[in-house]
Amino acid sequence: MAYVYDDQNVFAKILRGEIPNDTVMETEHSLAFRDIQPQAPVHVLVIPKGPYVCYDHFASDASDAEIVDFNRTIAAVCKQEGVQADGYRIISNAGDAGVQEVPHLHIHVLGGRGLGRMLQPAR
Ligand code: AMP
Repeated sequence: MAYVYDDQNVFAKILRGEIPNDTVMETEHSLAFRDIQPQAPVHVLVIPKGPYVCYDHFASDASDAEIVDFNRTIAAVCKQEGVQADGYRIISNAGDAGVQEVPHLHIHVLGGRGLGRMLQPAR
């Protein structure tokens, strides 16, 4: 399946500086900022700067440099936000079944409290 990237999505607008964000880290290829509706005391979104819809799109099409930078940024955010010792969860929703709201790849980094079981029953 060929992904079509919508450059009007909210994270594309954040990357273009059209709407504000609470940045916690920026690198050559990645940006990390606080989720506007946090689900835990630590809730940071890590996104690549390139136009990738979801994780498999990125992992298939991004350059090695982008992939390394993105993964290192996730690790650095976990360290900077202080969630390594007590644990954390990273989540990336994709498509309709994954209930992805913003069609630009993002990794949720969640921590700072007990997070419960991985999946809740479908509603
Ligand atoms: P998902 O369902 O995985 O696509 O999650 C999208 C996430 O983006 C949600 O947790 C939203 O709260 C978050 N979000 C939406 N708009 C913004 C924004 N302008 N700044 C920060 N986070 C946002």
